[in-house]
Amino acid sequence: MNYAKPTYRQDYQSTSNNFYNNRKWKGFSMDYRKNNPLCENCTRANIVALAKVCDHIVAMKVGGAKYDKANIQALCRHCDQRKRRMERDGKIVIDFKTNEAGELIPRGEVQVF
Ligand SMILES: [Zn+2]
Repeated sequence: MNYAKPTYRQDYQSTSNNFYNNRKWKGFSMDYRKNNPLCENCTRANIVALAKVCDHIVAMKVGGAKYDKANIQALCRHCDQRKRRMERDGKIVIDFKTNEAGELIPRGEVQVF
């Protein structure tokens, strides 16, 4: 019997989903959004929208800090999807520095994207 080999994309997504489904992240994300209930990108553009997810400003796959609030922003679904597309297409540039753990966090204010 033949079995399909997992593709790179499936591997990548299952790794990523494991992180976003873990209990520590879910608690961290919920706690952050209790204190930041509005989409931070919309707020920067003077729009009011409820946040639905927490985003790593500097993406984890390029070394962004996972649990440092300096690297987290609450986003609505629209902004989350927009940022994912921009990251995929290489259209978002974030100036960064390192935190005490040597992970990447943004330097200065995050711009509207
Ligand atoms: Zn938004």
